[in-house]
Amino acid sequence: MTIDELALSFEGLLEKKKKVTIISHFNPDGDAVGSSVGLNGYLLDMGYDSRIVLPSTIPPFLDFLDPEHNIIYYSEDKQRAKATVNDCDMIVCLDFNKPERTEWMSDLLTSAKADKVMIDHHPSAVREGFSIVISDTGASSTCELLFRVLMAFRHTEGRASSLSLNSLTAIMAGILTDTNNFNNSVTPHTFNIAAEMLKAGVDFDFLNNMLFKRFSESRMRLMGHLLKDSMKLERNSQVSCMVLSLEEKKKFGIQDGDTEGFVNLPLMIKGVEVSALFSESEDFIKVSLRSKGSFSVNALAKSYFNGGGHERAAGGRLYIPIGQVRDYFSESLEQFLLNNRRV
Ligand code: 5GP
Ligand code: MN
Repeated sequence: MTIDELALSFEGLLEKKKKVTIISHFNPDGDAVGSSVGLNGYLLDMGYDSRIVLPSTIPPFLDFLDPEHNIIYYSEDKQRAKATVNDCDMIVCLDFNKPERTEWMSDLLTSAKADKVMIDHHPSAVREGFSIVISDTGASSTCELLFRVLMAFRHTEGRASSLSLNSLTAIMAGILTDTNNFNNSVTPHTFNIAAEMLKAGVDFDFLNNMLFKRFSESRMRLMGHLLKDSMKLERNSQVSCMVLSLEEKKKFGIQDGDTEGFVNLPLMIKGVEVSALFSESEDFIKVSLRSKGSFSVNALAKSYFNGGGHERAAGGRLYIPIGQVRDYFSESLEQFLLNNRRV
């Protein structure tokens, strides 16, 4: 079935339902929050009893998308999150391709009785347990795909202005964050729908300021430190590796989420094809991988970093001492290149 046909089946299924729960992935990013808030707004306007349940809290720079604090967080109120997931007749999963991406909500999601629909743009979507899967790896973001789905609904008749300005703003925020301000994965369709949203009243300057121009001073200084003291280029300067320890995070007084986007910076260097950032937290080392050529960081993340993602943006986790990370990365890359193509 085409995306438009799947969208109409989704709309048909929705018409039989009253209570909807929207779920997105652990450590929600702009695309997760934007798609959740965007769809939730549409459903509320349509008279549904709709709620968003996320496994963990959203980063502070995205707070403006949920000004009334309506999002329910499993990490903060398990009882309410459980009740909301179990007491609904439809669950819409946004911006993730398998239940494990919801971390500690995985069992709750899998065992819930409601009809489940997935809308996502990651490769290898798991179909088991879902009534409808709308998956398009060609979409820049889940927000772009969601917008396409909503525009295919009979109710909207393809008019962006049939969505509220709040929904459109949230959807645009997801597109902007996942594409890093139209830098990655964009297609003519991305620009077309962005134009439609601006015509419908979305304030691009406002979003640009809210999403990309509100660094704290400590975040800016940490960025300088990472580039100056941590970034090491290897493999003939085609691969960049940055490591950030808990100690350094404390020294710079930064919060979780403050390293968002830093992994992209080394790709601005001519010749650098792959960039890795390892950021230590209390329980594990968060791995972020990016590439700008044909190198698949998704495959690298799956093979060596307990993760996955997209071809050019992926992530995962490591459970080794921070001091061993650089060697582990070099060795993994060596192995990976022996088994795959060379960078
Ligand atoms: P980031 O580096 O921004 O945290 O993540 C980039 C992309 O990698 C995300 O959009 C997501 O698709 C994927 N990703 C990040 N962490 C994980 C992980 O732990 N497991 C999997 N499967 N994918 C991840
Ligand atoms: Mn996404």
